[in-house]
Amino acid sequence: MIKEHELDKLIICKKCHTLHEKVKLENKTKAYCSECNVLLYQQDHDMIERTLALVITASISLFVAFNFNIININIQGLEQSLTLSSLFVVILEHEQYVVGLLFLFIIVIFPIGILFATFLLLFLMKVGKAAYLSKRLLILLAHLKPWNMVDIFFISLLVAMVKLFDIANIELGVAFVAFIFTLILDIIITKNLSFHDLWAIHSKIYGQIDEE
Ligand SMILES: [Zn+2]
Repeated sequence: MIKEHELDKLIICKKCHTLHEKVKLENKTKAYCSECNVLLYQQDHDMIERTLALVITASISLFVAFNFNIININIQGLEQSLTLSSLFVVILEHEQYVVGLLFLFIIVIFPIGILFATFLLLFLMKVGKAAYLSKRLLILLAHLKPWNMVDIFFISLLVAMVKLFDIANIELGVAFVAFIFTLILDIIITKNLSFHDLWAIHSKIYGQIDEE
């Protein structure tokens, strides 16, 4: 019977499934599979700080995206500037409640929720507090990771805009640029965060904690 802490010392290559024994790495170095040269794991002490900085930047850029003009529309000579919140009001005024609900979840609740959860997790790990909460957050985010909400949200936004292009002349506003910026940051954050490393750092900071 293999014990759990012994399993922690082993790692399986994701590509060729060769089993490797883990060795301690110097900072900023990486371990590759001996068979197929795929990256196995890496030692990166700055990951938390660096990602935290990116998350804060992404939050600011998301704030801009929510508060500045996303589009300027010209419908039959009538100029109108729309922010995301006024866009939401327009959707409700047209009694598009399903679209409104999707909008609320995909564009507001998910991105803010995920950024906030990521921030809270990294912050708690940085100060080494709230072991149980940070473990829950880590599990939550690992489950949500494949979704990558900002991408979905950006695509729905594009679809909505293409529909609008049919009825109006549209100019893109500052908030649109902020969205693209948030999207790029989101991709970088996702690339930066290795959940494998986060787990390792987590158990290093808090020790092994048992499930309640
Ligand atoms: Zn391999």
